[in-house]
Amino acid sequence: MALAPWIEFDRGHLWHPYSAMGSGLPIFPVVSASGVRIRLADGRELIDGMSSWWSAIHGYNHPVLNRAVNQQLQAMAHVMFGGLTHQPAADLARRLVELTPQPLETVFFADSGSVSVEVALKMAIQYWHARGLPRKKRFLTVRNGYHGDTWHAMSVTDPENGMHTLFRGALPRQHFVPAPRCRFGEPCSPEDIAPMEQALIRVHDELAAVIIEPVVQGAGGMRFYSADYLRQLHALCERHDVLLILDEIATGFGRTGKMFACEHADIAPDILCVGKALTGGYMSLAATLTTQEVSQTISRGMPGLFMHGPTFMANPLACATALASLELLLESPWQGRIRQLEMGLKSGLAPCREMAWVSDVRVLGGIGVVELRDAVDLKTIQRSFVDAGVWVRPFGRLVYLMPPYVISEEDLQDLTGAVVEVVGGHAV
Ligand SMILES: *Cc1c(COP(=O)(O)O)cnc(C)c1O
Repeated sequence: MALAPWIEFDRGHLWHPYSAMGSGLPIFPVVSASGVRIRLADGRELIDGMSSWWSAIHGYNHPVLNRAVNQQLQAMAHVMFGGLTHQPAADLARRLVELTPQPLETVFFADSGSVSVEVALKMAIQYWHARGLPRKKRFLTVRNGYHGDTWHAMSVTDPENGMHTLFRGALPRQHFVPAPRCRFGEPCSPEDIAPMEQALIRVHDELAAVIIEPVVQGAGGMRFYSADYLRQLHALCERHDVLLILDEIATGFGRTGKMFACEHADIAPDILCVGKALTGGYMSLAATLTTQEVSQTISRGMPGLFMHGPTFMANPLACATALASLELLLESPWQGRIRQLEMGLKSGLAPCREMAWVSDVRVLGGIGVVELRDAVDLKTIQRSFVDAGVWVRPFGRLVYLMPPYVISEEDLQDLTGAVVEVVGGHAV
């Protein structure tokens, strides 16, 4: 069958995430999506296992979110945020301040997760600058992290996954220690935290902050580590006068079973990044929250301003949708749903444990991971998943699921069943 002209054009002219022109990798045209189903141009329907990368937590084409978009559209799609303000931004900021751990009281709206990370890093540097300690301008993090694709976000992303070699000499150099080895649910031993502690002792003088994804390392390996590690890290940052930035762009808004993953450790950061699920997957919006201490210090210091201001800052359509998405989440039995999801993922993916080419199966909240011994062949496995009627997008050695919270038990069984079938047929 001949491809539609727009699909032909896409192949020759359009970049997709981490893609190559003319790679020959399959790409599937979508015409609509509703609930947990993605409908392809050829009429096939796929059960969504990805929530469009952590974001579509309520499923697609949700009447409540659609209404919020339409209502806001009647008032205004956008106005600049310099010198003007609007209620969607203020109401959303209030909600975020209420939802997040106590000391986080000020909100900076950014247009994507990566930008919210840039903003967080800049806040940390401006904070120390304002305190008369301009030497404190580097960052410490753990390996296997992922914080986005923009310049400084990339500099704190895992040096191997993040292609530091390719950009060597161009990227700012940060400090890295090994990723936590203690698993989620286990205590963190003194040996586990030692590299972090030693690094803090050695270089705290030049550190603005430690940045880390709490409990779940996402795109850098889908690793779940001990909340105890995070608790100890929090104490160490305080002791060594280094800010703690938590990147909850993937984990925020319930995915791990808590509203924010840092609640597993009962700690609050100095700076918090949220994004992805913030608008329920409708639009690009992210936020960087911080404390009054950090905000006031920056505002009193030189140059007396926080130096960032995107054109589409606090876009009203995105803010109104995010507000509706948060209300929807809070009014839903989300904790129960995540527990169901966790149980369904655990039992559904369990058969993969028996496969010799699978090295680990792990589940936390609404995240299920099957780790293989070798990297998958994306070209064949992607087709197999689509043929099996599910949308799953593996990377490297990882086949993982993070379905919308609203998925039914039956659809979840079909989804995990497809993973067992496809991974089972992919002996490598
Ligand atoms: C996705 C992600 C980012 C980057 O967000 P974008 O919206 O893609 O720029 C940053 N940090 C984490 C933990 C993420 O999962």
